[in-house]
Amino acid sequence: MKIFNTLSRTKEEFVPLEPGKVKMYVCGPTVYNLIHIGNARPMIVFDTVRRYFEYKGYEVTYVSNFTDVDDKIIKKANEEGVDSSEISSRYIEECRKDMAGMNVRSATVHPQATQEIPGMLTMIQTLIDGGHAYVAADGTVYFRTRSFKDYGKLSHKNIDELQSGFRELRVTGEEDKEDANDFVLWKPKKEGEPYWDSAWCKGRPGWHIECSVMAKRYLGDQIDIHAGGEDLIFPHHENEIAQSESANGKLFANYWMHNAFLNIDNRKMSKSLGNFFTVREIAGQYNLQVLRFFMLSAHYRSPLNFSADLMESSKNGLERIQTAMERLRDLDGKVSGDVLTEAEKAWDAQAGELVAKFEAAMDDDFNTADAIAALFELVKLSNSTVSADCSKAYTEDMKGRIQSLCDVLGLIVESRTETLDDAVEKLIADRQVARKAKDFAKADAIRQQLLDMGIELKDTREGVKWKRI
Ligand code: AMP
Ligand code: ZN
Repeated sequence: MKIFNTLSRTKEEFVPLEPGKVKMYVCGPTVYNLIHIGNARPMIVFDTVRRYFEYKGYEVTYVSNFTDVDDKIIKKANEEGVDSSEISSRYIEECRKDMAGMNVRSATVHPQATQEIPGMLTMIQTLIDGGHAYVAADGTVYFRTRSFKDYGKLSHKNIDELQSGFRELRVTGEEDKEDANDFVLWKPKKEGEPYWDSAWCKGRPGWHIECSVMAKRYLGDQIDIHAGGEDLIFPHHENEIAQSESANGKLFANYWMHNAFLNIDNRKMSKSLGNFFTVREIAGQYNLQVLRFFMLSAHYRSPLNFSADLMESSKNGLERIQTAMERLRDLDGKVSGDVLTEAEKAWDAQAGELVAKFEAAMDDDFNTADAIAALFELVKLSNSTVSADCSKAYTEDMKGRIQSLCDVLGLIVESRTETLDDAVEKLIADRQVARKAKDFAKADAIRQQLLDMGIELKDTREGVKWKRI
């Protein structure tokens, strides 16, 4: 398997730290609003990377954070006159609903910055003790970028070039910085902000430290893959490397993967430009599987321009696969025979080659665009060969092949409604039992499990109601 590594700017053979295992960390969203479809791109792309590793037999530990302490969250909390934890928990819940709709699986762990403060204090102290950080007069702790000789290795920036213009770059309140590239690890609280005690001042962490600490806690000092959108290369990921490698004395991540932007009218979709669609808005127009298909129709390192035309062709593409699967399902009970005929053996060999083509595309830096092309060829082969005259062995085989490739891409092509309904009813009953027993942790866990399945619960006077989201 080859992965394009931002560190070396080349495609490299993937060699895991531990055979058969993959440790992945993906930077998640800042939760102060509904996520937009630009934020959805890394979610879908790296969920697919995870699924493909699992398809290849790897055991994947996937960690993705929610940034729940940040200026934008605090601003919104102050506007609404509520605690910032209310804002972040509201939008974490909304984000999880969107993830479920896009069939993005929950991470193995979704840590939150505010729950990880002790680890941050420890890492910051280690950096200070090692001469990699310093405390300014007002209690702000800065990382000393000059102390890390590899600073700039990910973004391929030269530290001296970054240094020029330092005087102009100086920000009010940051006069104590030794160097323009030095960045905040811990900053003093301001009025109306959440804060924690520390040896340096009452305050809160900088953004970069949270990811270094969470990766260390949940994955260890060294990880296989670190990922996110390309806007994170500098400064966020560069700074994560500086912190983690200085604190742990080990190479942090072996492979750095970055998705290109989702654009609109050839400009990056972003909250600050105001040119965005939320996932929720798109869900009002399309099944979110269409959005997922659209995201995977381009290679993750190519910019992708959002347009109604592309969404329509994605819808058609997805329907083509779904129709082929429905046709195969309709043959259930109508076909028999456990042995392939001579003709079927030849078709089956062709199908095997198309699966190999799909895998070769995915092995080549997760080229989902080419993988989907191979999947379409398989669908075409199915449509032109499958009929009521076929053996059951052949139709089952074809169904299994298409299904497993769709599973890698995370595309739902089954009508799972009936089987799902039974599972949902059972979980709701279990939750009621837990609530009666006052086991609220279990009840909440079941509610979350249902949310992950795309089911939202409402406790009403008439009992528990549920709906698909
Ligand atoms: P944020 O909440 O802005 O920190 O973003 C969360 C994730 O979404 C990061 O990995 C960003 O790089 C990514 N992201 C934000 N906007 C876009 C976009 N327009 N296209 C692709 N990725 C994006
Ligand atoms: Zn991060």
